[in-house]
Amino acid sequence: MAKESEKLHQKALSLIKERGVELTDIAELVLLLQTPYIKDLTLEECLLNVEAVLLKREVQNTILTGIQLDILAEQKQLMDPLQQIISEDEGLYGIDEILALSIVNVYGSIGFTNYGYIDKIKPGILAKLNSHEGEKVHTFMDDIIGAIAAAAASRLAHAHPTKSDSVK
Ligand code: MG
Repeated sequence: MAKESEKLHQKALSLIKERGVELTDIAELVLLLQTPYIKDLTLEECLLNVEAVLLKREVQNTILTGIQLDILAEQKQLMDPLQQIISEDEGLYGIDEILALSIVNVYGSIGFTNYGYIDKIKPGILAKLNSHEGEKVHTFMDDIIGAIAAAAASRLAHAHPTKSDSVK
């Protein structure tokens, strides 16, 4: 059983990397979110929180599910009209955002504010994932990465309750 859960964890980590995102890219997003609230916050501390979020089974399940759909869309394996909706990242689809909420949920309500904010400004790696260049489909990936950053930021906020202004 422990072996199975480690397999899931490793698969989630390798998928993120294979799809072009480094954990430090996610840590940069966390740093951006929490720097206004936590004095002397370092990229290393952000990275530790990203790694902790990735240990959660709910998070791993979401990563596997969302990235699988992105890959199937790249391979044109989905049924129509879902194939077109996901490969073109149609704005009114919305299930990519809904799926990513299962990651945000893990650390409570602060996560929602962070997730909404980062999804709106799309800094760093999120802008890259959203550029829609080439054959790659990142319809689910961008929301998943934003949600991991939001969850890690929430975890940090809980660890620094007196310093954090984001606990509202
Ligand atoms: Mg999306």
